[in-house]
Amino acid sequence: MASSKSMKMSLLVLCLKSSRSKTEEIEPGVFVLGGLQKISNNQEQSIGKSELRALRREVPTWGKMWSFKRCQVNGVVYHSKVYKRVTARNNFTVSFTTDKQTGYGSILRYVKVEEKCHQAQCIDMRCNCHLECSFFALLKILIVHQDQLPKLREKAVVGHIIRVEETSKIVAVPLQCIKEKFLLVSISSGIFLCHLANRIERD
Ligand SMILES: [Zn+2]
Repeated sequence: MASSKSMKMSLLVLCLKSSRSKTEEIEPGVFVLGGLQKISNNQEQSIGKSELRALRREVPTWGKMWSFKRCQVNGVVYHSKVYKRVTARNNFTVSFTTDKQTGYGSILRYVKVEEKCHQAQCIDMRCNCHLECSFFALLKILIVHQDQLPKLREKAVVGHIIRVEETSKIVAVPLQCIKEKFLLVSISSGIFLCHLANRIERD
C-alpha cells in the first residue's frame, strides 16, 4: 500500500513539475513564458541571418539553441512578433537599456542558447556537464527621429510620445535589459511610440 501511495506522490510531483516547466525563472523577476522550441543546427537559418549575426556579437559560439515567444520582466509580460495571438498584436515594442543607454525596438523573438561543451570525453559519450545558458530578445531597432513633436505648452501627454524611425538593424539584448513596453502607432505623418502605464498583466 505504501508503494502505491508513494507512486501517487511521485505522479503528483511529476504533474507539478511539468506544469511548472512552462515558466522558467532565469533570475529574480525574469521569466521565460510558454514552451521552448528546440532549434537544431540545420534549422538555425530559420532564425534569420541578421538575427544570428546579432546573437554572435553577444555569444560567439553555442551548443544548443531554443526559441520562445514570451517573457516576463519585473511583473510585465512582453510578447514578440512571432507570438501571433490576436490580443497580442502590436504588443512587442519596448525600450531597453544597455551600458546606461536607452534604445527602442520591436522584439522579433526570444532565444535561449547553451554554451558548447569542450570536454574531450563528451564527444563520444552523453554530456552531463553543467553548461551556462543565456537568454536574449532579438530586436529590430527603432531610432529616435530628429524631429520630435513640438511641446504643446509643456503638456505632459506630448512628452509621452516619441517619434521614431524604422531601421533594419537587429540586436540581441539580454532579457533583464528590457525596461518598458510601448504602443507603436504608425500613421502617415510618422511612427510614434506611446508610453503605456507599466502594469502587472495577466497572461
Ligand atoms: Zn560535456
